[in-house]
Amino acid sequence: MKLTFLGTGTSTGVPVIACDCPVCTSRDQRNHRTRASLLVGNNGNNILIDTSPDLRQQALRAGLRRLDAVLFTHFHADHVGGLDELRAFNIAQRASIPCFGDELSIHNIKIRYPYIFNGRLYFGAKPELTMHQASEVIYIFGMEIIPVPVYHGWLPILGYRIGRMAYVTDCSAIPPESLRTLRDLDVLVLGALRHEPHYSHFTVAEALEVVAMLRPQRVYLTHMAHELDHEETSGILPQGVELAYDGLEIDLG
Ligand SMILES: [Zn+2]
Ligand SMILES: [Zn+2]
Ligand SMILES: [Zn+2]
Repeated sequence: MKLTFLGTGTSTGVPVIACDCPVCTSRDQRNHRTRASLLVGNNGNNILIDTSPDLRQQALRAGLRRLDAVLFTHFHADHVGGLDELRAFNIAQRASIPCFGDELSIHNIKIRYPYIFNGRLYFGAKPELTMHQASEVIYIFGMEIIPVPVYHGWLPILGYRIGRMAYVTDCSAIPPESLRTLRDLDVLVLGALRHEPHYSHFTVAEALEVVAMLRPQRVYLTHMAHELDHEETSGILPQGVELAYDGLEIDLG
């Protein structure tokens, strides 16, 4: 299994438009964060988690040529805004792409993109998507994908566990049952927005509390705001915990 961090930024991306702060003007490429998204490659199959508004640039940068399925964590614009870019994969693959999300996400995606689902446009003019509710374990391409319910402020959203890897972003609380699902991980990708508290995202310190509880082998923090400088923040992290950055690839064997 191979992970590619397509995007590691919060909803605004970093640099933030019209911001002159040290991180936004930094020359360290690791401080340039497009909107959060992860690519999971396994035995020739590519699974995308979330369609960031930056999906087109992310796919070109990663040399992505094929997409077999999409998992949605939730329906916020920074996780769904690149939905129309899936069209390019439909055209290349001549097939519909299966998409998975919770009921609320599927409902909201259908409301926000009526032209995709009303059946009036011809093939190639809109993405061809097959929506599936991720209410239970998903079995695709010989993989077991476990939806992991977490809270994003008041909003229930999903993380996903795939084998011994899990992706949990935009999270401010993890219910006990989901904590159990996240035991014995080789890699945990966890959202950590900044140091200042936020009502719907873990701070770095809160993310580290989760890490201390779950003790995964390795942790990559993602969905970061412009308050976090890569170099500076890396210096305060415990062993086994790193900040992810755009383009980072992890080979899990
Ligand atoms: Zn987000
Ligand atoms: Zn800034
Ligand atoms: Zn969100």
